[in-house]
Amino acid sequence: MAGQNPGVLKAKSREPEFYINLWQSVEQQGFWKGELWNRKKCGLVYRQLITIIKVDRHESDRVYVAIFHDLARPQTGLPLQHPALNEDVLTGFIDREEFRKLITWQMKVADASHSDVHLVKLDLGEIQTINDSFDHNTCDQVIMDAASRLRKMLPKACHLARLGPDEFGILCPQPFDLDATLQLIESLIQELSKPYIIKATQISLMPSVGCAIYPHDADTPESLMRCSRTALEFAKRSGRNCFALYDKSMTEIAREKLLMVQDLKQALKSNQLFVVLQPKVDMRSGLPEGAEVLLRWNHPSKGMIPPSQFIPLAEEAGLITEVSHWVLAETLTIAKHLYYQQGISLPIALNLCAQDINNKEFIEHVINSLRAHKLPSDMLEVEVTETMLVENSDTAHLHLQQLRDAGIKVSMDDFGTGYSSLSHLRDLPIDRIKIDRSFVVGMTADRVNQGIIKLITDLAKLIGVEILAEGVETEQQKLQLIELKCFHAQGYLFQRPLILEDHIQYLHSFEHPAPVTLQGFSLIMLC
Ligand code: C2E
Ligand code: CA
Ligand code: CA
Repeated sequence: MAGQNPGVLKAKSREPEFYINLWQSVEQQGFWKGELWNRKKCGLVYRQLITIIKVDRHESDRVYVAIFHDLARPQTGLPLQHPALNEDVLTGFIDREEFRKLITWQMKVADASHSDVHLVKLDLGEIQTINDSFDHNTCDQVIMDAASRLRKMLPKACHLARLGPDEFGILCPQPFDLDATLQLIESLIQELSKPYIIKATQISLMPSVGCAIYPHDADTPESLMRCSRTALEFAKRSGRNCFALYDKSMTEIAREKLLMVQDLKQALKSNQLFVVLQPKVDMRSGLPEGAEVLLRWNHPSKGMIPPSQFIPLAEEAGLITEVSHWVLAETLTIAKHLYYQQGISLPIALNLCAQDINNKEFIEHVINSLRAHKLPSDMLEVEVTETMLVENSDTAHLHLQQLRDAGIKVSMDDFGTGYSSLSHLRDLPIDRIKIDRSFVVGMTADRVNQGIIKLITDLAKLIGVEILAEGVETEQQKLQLIELKCFHAQGYLFQRPLILEDHIQYLHSFEHPAPVTLQGFSLIMLC
C-alpha cells in the first residue's frame, strides 16, 4: 500500500454527501466512525467497521489514521450488536458460514428421508488473470455476470453460496439424484464458458467443478466441503472446463502430494536440488551455442524425482517462486563461473513457469540479479511455453518485453503443443521458437510432421525469429532438419543434460581437440 491512495481498496461507492459528512466529522470532531464496503488484497469485497482519526503532529504535518475490523469475522473487542456478514455484496449469495449451516440442516433432512445431499464446488478459473490484466471493476462485472447466469440456471431446490473470490458452492438436496446433478453441472460449465462482454471486451472463463456426496463420501459438513474441494482440485488439474466426482483415492493422492510438498520445502533447505545443463548446438558444425538449465531433485528415499512431477506440484502449493529464485541464483552462479573462470561466454537458458512470468517482482529480480553478477546480458536467456503467453497475454507480454529490453533473449518452448496460433507469432515478444520434441520424434516416418516443421521454419524466417528443434536423437532426424533449414537443436544425439563439471569438460573439448596419442591410436586399431 505504500505510496497508494486508500481509495484503491474502495469497493462500493456511496453518495457524495456521505463522504462530505464523513470528512466534515473528521475535521470538526477529530474522528469518524462507521461502516464501509472495502476490498481485500485477493479482491473479495467485505464490510468493515472503520474509525478514521485526524492527528496533527505539527501545523503542517497532518496524518489520518484508520483502524478497521472485518465485520465478517468476529473479533475480540468488537461490539456484539454488529451482525455477522451473511451475504456477499457482489452476488447476493450467502457466505461460507451460512452455507455450512445450510449443509448441516440438509444433512439432517437427508438422514430423515434416507436421501443424498450433493455438494458442488465451482471455480470460475482465470479470475486472478482478469484481475491482473484488467481492473477490479471488470473482474467484479465478470463475477456478477457469472453469478446471474448461475442464479438463472439453478433449480429452486438448490442453494448457492460464494465461498471465495472465484469459488461458488451449490447444494443440491433431494429430489436431485446423481444423474440430475451431473446434468446440471454439465450445463453450468457450458453456460459459464460462454464469453463475457465487459466494456466491449470479450472475456472467457474456463470453470472447473468438483462434487461430493453425503453420506457416501463424508459424514460432517466440514468433511463434505473438504471432499468437494479435493474433487475440484482434481478437475482443475485435468484441464479447465472439467468436472470431477469425489473418489476416496483422491484423498490418498492428495495426502501423498501434501507429503511431497513438505519434502520439497525440506529439499530447498538441504541441498537436495541441483541443476544440470543440456547443450544447444549448431547441427552444421556440431559446435555448442549455449545450454539450458534443467532442475533435478535427488530425494533422500525416493531417489531422482523428475521436474515434470515436482514443478507442477510446487506451482500448486505456492512454492514455485522459492524454487525459481533458487534456480535463478544457481544459474547465475554457473554463468559467472563459466564467464570469468572458464572464459566461456555462451548463453544459459532458464525455464520459467506461468507464475514466474506473471510475477512483476520476480521479473525485476531476474534483471537486477543479472546486473549484480556483472554478466553480459546476453549470457542469460529465458524459456516460456506458448500456453503461458496466450493465457496471461498482457502481463506476460509486458514482462517478457522488459526482459528483452534488458538484453535477455526469450525462447518459446514446446512450440506446437499449445495454441500454436501462427497468426499471433509475429506479435509475441520472442526471439526464438523451440519446436517440440513430439514433431521431431515422428518426422522421419511422418510427412505431416516434416511439413509442420518446414512450415514453422519458413514462418520463423519470415518474421525474423530463430528456430531450434528439441529432442533430436538420431542422425537421420538431424539430416532432415538441416535439409528443412532448421540448423539449431538440442537432444541426446549431441549431449544429454550434464552436471556442471562434465558440461565444462564438454565445452572445452571443442576448443582444444584431444591429440590422438600413439597409445590411443594403437588401442583403436586393436578394437
Ligand atoms: P523442457 O524445457 O522442454 O526440457 C527439455 C526436456 O527434454 C528435459 O527433460 C530434457 O532432459 C529432455 N530431453 C532433452 N533432449 C532429449 C532427447 O533427445 N530425448 C528425450 N527423450 N528427452 C530429451 P527434463 O529435464 O525432465 O525436464 C522436463 C521439463 O521440466 C522441462 O521441459 C521444463 O518444462 C521443466 N523444467 C526443468 N527444469 C526446470 C526449471 O528449473 N524451472 C521450471 N520452471 N521448469 C523446469
Ligand atoms: Ca525448456
Ligand atoms: Ca521443451
